[in-house]
Formats: sequence, C-alpha cells, structure tokens
Amino acid sequence: MRTVHVSLGNRSYDIKIAPGLIDRLGRECARLKLAAGCAIITDSNVGKQYARAVFNSLAAAGFKPSLIVVQPGEATKSLKVVQSCFDQLAMQRLERKSFIVALGGGVVGDLAGFLAATYLRGIAFVQVPTTLLAQVDSSVGGKTGVNLKSGKNLVGAFHQPKLVVCDLDTLKTLPDREFRAGLAEVIKNGIIFDAKLFKQLERDLPRLLKRDQTILAPVIARCCEIKAEVVGKDETEGGLRAILNFGHTIGHAIENISGYGKYLHGEAISIGQVAAAELSHEMLDLPEGDVERIRNLFQRAGLPVRMRLNSSKRQKLLNAMRLDKKVSGGEIKFVLAEKIGKVVWSQRVPGNMIGDALGEITNRKSKL
Ligand code: ADP
Ligand code: ZN
Repeated sequence: MRTVHVSLGNRSYDIKIAPGLIDRLGRECARLKLAAGCAIITDSNVGKQYARAVFNSLAAAGFKPSLIVVQPGEATKSLKVVQSCFDQLAMQRLERKSFIVALGGGVVGDLAGFLAATYLRGIAFVQVPTTLLAQVDSSVGGKTGVNLKSGKNLVGAFHQPKLVVCDLDTLKTLPDREFRAGLAEVIKNGIIFDAKLFKQLERDLPRLLKRDQTILAPVIARCCEIKAEVVGKDETEGGLRAILNFGHTIGHAIENISGYGKYLHGEAISIGQVAAAELSHEMLDLPEGDVERIRNLFQRAGLPVRMRLNSSKRQKLLNAMRLDKKVSGGEIKFVLAEKIGKVVWSQRVPGNMIGDALGEITNRKSKL
C-alpha cells in the first residue's frame, strides 16, 4: 500500500492507495477514533457496485452505517439535494462525532464533503473516491461545494477529510470515457510540476490505458503527492495553488458555453491545456517541441485537443472566461508554462491573443 501524507497542521490526513482497500476501510476508520454512527453517501451507479462491500467493511469494524443514495450526475450537486440529505442525516440521528463516508466520483465527493462541512457546523468525513479524476484531483485539497443556477461550485466550504482511501480495484468498472477524462488531470500534473512524470506518462500511457495497477499505483500516488504539496503550501489559493488551474480558465468556459454534460471536465481541460500551451509558446517561448509533446500526449490518451468555433461562439467563450469566479477586477489571468514541468501563474494575456489561440483551434480543425 502507498500512503501520501497531506500536511495541514491539525487538519493533516493520509491518502491510502492500493487494490482491495474497501475491505480494509472499516479497520482504517477505526483508527480515527470516531463515533459508531456514520452515513455512506453514494450515487446509484457506484452504490450498485460497492455500497454493500463498504457497508460490510464498516459494520465488521463495529460501526453502524446508514446509506444515502443520490442520482448520478452533476445535477445532484444542488441545494435541493443538500436539503434532502440534511433531513436524512438528522433522521438517522447523526451527531457531532459521527462521520460521513463519500463513496463515488467528484460529484459525490463535493456533495458529501459539503454536507460534512456544514451539518452540525461540521462533522468528520472520509473519502472513498472511485473515479480516476477524484482519486488524483478532487479528493485532495478539501474543496467541497454545490452548484447554483448561475454557475458551478458557487456555494461551498474548505473541509479536509480525515482519510482518503483509493481502492484501485474500483477503477475496473469505470466507463472508458470517464477514465480517459481523469487522465487529463494526471497529464496536467506532469506539465505544471513534474517533467519526469510527464516523460513517464509518454512511455507508460499504453499500460495506463489498460489500467495496469503496477503503473496506476505510482502514478496516482505521485499526482496526490503533487497536489498535496501545492495545497500544503497554499491551502486557500492565495497564490501557488493557482497552478492547478492550468488549462482550466479556457476549460471552464468551454464547459460553460457548451452546456454542462457535452464535454466532461477532463475533456474540456484537455482542450484548455493545449490552448494554454499555444499561449505559452506565444508569451513565454515555450518551445514548439514541448507544445507538440503536450498535444500528442492528450491525443494519445483519446482526449479532444481542439474544438470547432465560429466567431460568435468564440466571443461567447471569451465572455464566459471573464465571468469565471477566479477572475478578479475583470482581468483574465492565465497559468502558462515556461517548459514542461514549470509553470507561472497570474499571467496577463491580451484579449486578441486569447482569441487567436482559440482561433488556431478552429483553423486547424478546418484544415483537417
Ligand atoms: P468525476 O469524478 O469525474 O467528477 P462523477 O462523480 O460525475 O465523476 O462520476 C462520473 C460517472 O461515473 C457517474 O455516472 C458515476 O456514477 C460513475 N462512476 C463513478 N465511479 C464509478 C466506478 N468506479 N464504476 C462505475 N461507475 C462509476
Ligand atoms: Zn480540474
């Protein structure tokens, strides 16, 4: 088993990574000195596969779990679902020392984390992420929240889990498209922080795509380490944490204008990262060869690297970027790469250049 320690003072916790971990979940939770009462929150897809095993593992260790099943999909991250879950938690008499187990992908993690952050002004929670994206990204760092009609993640809280358990076996049932989307965050970690990881991904991608656990384990652990290090230095995003947003300014705008659901998050940030690499070439002389390596790796992972954009859509995209909640004072700031493995944040990019990078996407597509 690999363990990554997330160092955040008295909110520090461990991320455990290995196959077969659900069976040990109860024993791992027993070490946290929590009350017996707990609620497993999951969605119906994940619940069908793993709720029974999680329930049994907790019960065998002396816990008294209850189960709350929500619908799969982004629409579940709503205040309406929050309300209904609160009612169920109260009905099940969860108290201050009780805890919530989030079993699922990013949607379940964000929702369950938010419930744990706010129910009784905050109770403990344990994450059991079951998507690649959640294992390498959303389960690390303590961001929780739900969506409003006017935008994603507009209501939320920072709330760190007490423990994260990544059972590699759960990835076996993950749909292919979801798995590939998760790789977009994995590749991002190579670009922003670790040239060696990027090189390893170029070499081991075929085995990774086959979900070979001997490659998955060290790659997931390295991604958690990177995110833990960044978050450990800047928990609430005063500066450094912004580098995790590489490709996300454009990616979020793509998700926004295409209607949520058309592109998965990983797909949108794949296009966003390739566009950010182009901008990095223009602004910071990121070598053309590095731009190519970045584009190739996303392409080999089966992810989109460009989208068709007419001029009205391009305008919409630029407007959506200006509305991003990370924008302050109306100025769009970018994370750009100097080279693979090293990025800088807070980069101003002239509006026309952003238009051009996106235009490039259109032109290249039309040449195909
Ligand atoms: P993300 O982590 O990408 O934000 P979601 O929470 O939206 O993901 O999950 C993506 C989809 O995959 C959902 O439909 C969810 O029910 C499903 N899912 C999550 N984990 C698994 C798994 N291990 N096996 C099968 N389906 C899963
Ligand atoms: Zn992301």
